[in-house]
Amino acid sequence: MKLKIVEYPDKRLKQKSLKVTKFDNELHGLLDAMNPMMINTNGIGLAAIQVGVALEILVLNIPDEEGEQPPENLIEMINPILSDKKGETTYQEGCLSVPEFYEDIHRFETLHVNYQDRDGNTHELKADGLLSIAIQHEVDHLNGILFIDKLTSSRRRKFEKEYKKMLKEKKSTTQKV
Ligand SMILES: [Zn+2]
Repeated sequence: MKLKIVEYPDKRLKQKSLKVTKFDNELHGLLDAMNPMMINTNGIGLAAIQVGVALEILVLNIPDEEGEQPPENLIEMINPILSDKKGETTYQEGCLSVPEFYEDIHRFETLHVNYQDRDGNTHELKADGLLSIAIQHEVDHLNGILFIDKLTSSRRRKFEKEYKKMLKEKKSTTQKV
């Protein structure tokens, strides 16, 4: 399966994803393609809508102390449900779908998540730190929300200007090649 990252302002990123009901080979193939894509693009999380699939699927791999992302740290979450969101934290977030832009975003510090794995088995975990932040960022994707939607209107305007400029420069570089 060949995947391509969907980038802002692609309208698909505003889509609300649907629950997964079939835990079949197609789902496994998608997950098997999403995982290396996340690692190869230096992501710590990736939601299916970011590769154009509007289903409640996400993968996460939080770097360890050495900055490594070994395969055993991979978490595949299907149909995640968040609860017990507590505390407050701020982190400079980026997004594979909004390249070259980073911004401080406020999130809950800890949360509880119920989810299913690729075979439909149910799991739950309590998350804090970067894992908690990444889960909130990815679950936002499933609801059609990007981290830039959380900016104040003046920051958002500045972003749109910078991003448009970046896209234009990208285009002109491509044309030269
Ligand atoms: Zn993202």
